[in-house]
Amino acid sequence: MGTGKTGACLVCGKETTKLCSKCVKAGHDLFFCSPEHQKLVWAEHRRVCGKRLTPEPWPWYSQEEADETIANLDVKRKLWDGRELTMTEYLAEVAQVPKYYTAQHIYDFTAGHNHPFSLFISQAALADFRALEIRRKCPSRNFNDVLGKTDIFQIMHELWLAIYPGTPIGVVWHAGMQHRFVVLFSLLHQRAQDESTIPLAYCRNAYKQIEQYILSPASRAGALAFSLVNSLHRFIDSDTMVLRIPTLDTAQRGQQ
Ligand SMILES: [Zn+2]
Ligand SMILES: [Zn+2]
Repeated sequence: MGTGKTGACLVCGKETTKLCSKCVKAGHDLFFCSPEHQKLVWAEHRRVCGKRLTPEPWPWYSQEEADETIANLDVKRKLWDGRELTMTEYLAEVAQVPKYYTAQHIYDFTAGHNHPFSLFISQAALADFRALEIRRKCPSRNFNDVLGKTDIFQIMHELWLAIYPGTPIGVVWHAGMQHRFVVLFSLLHQRAQDESTIPLAYCRNAYKQIEQYILSPASRAGALAFSLVNSLHRFIDSDTMVLRIPTLDTAQRGQQ
């Protein structure tokens, strides 16, 4: 689909007029030079494709994520304050979820189910589930070890909290960043599984597109733009594309 605008393909960086047509209607200019490059990230992009700027910035749990989370409810995870709790204990403490109801509560946030609370509360709960799960999978805090094995929304969420802890700048900025993160993490995820499938240049390009998005007036990040770019650089090496996650513990949201 063309709108007369041009931009860089989010995968390879080639200048193009082709955009994801569903995303354009939702207010996001996501350029892909060819059907091949759009398809390359489709498995993950489809979970946010065409989502409006507001109010649904994060996709619901996939069935696989929900099943895996429920199978591991009683594994201890390190929290932001240093304590170790299981997800069941955590949900009982912070959200007064009765222990017998924990599994059902998680299934309620799976795609296709009815969501019991306000969207805001549901999204906050999802954020907690995803962050707790990544802490279970990755106790060493080295995300490169699990990058190819975990759902990208879990790992994205952890990075997201690190880059911008606390309240998002606004839904417009948040959703635009999220759409670009999905492309980058899809590429990183596939590359972590099999280096021969995705050139490093594509990952570097997707990363560069995120930097440019943050710095563009359209992102509305305003005065925060430079500190956000600096945060991004602290967590992803722009040259090697290695996630420097062990440093995350110095940027915990619990300290905010
Ligand atoms: Zn391309
Ligand atoms: Zn799309």
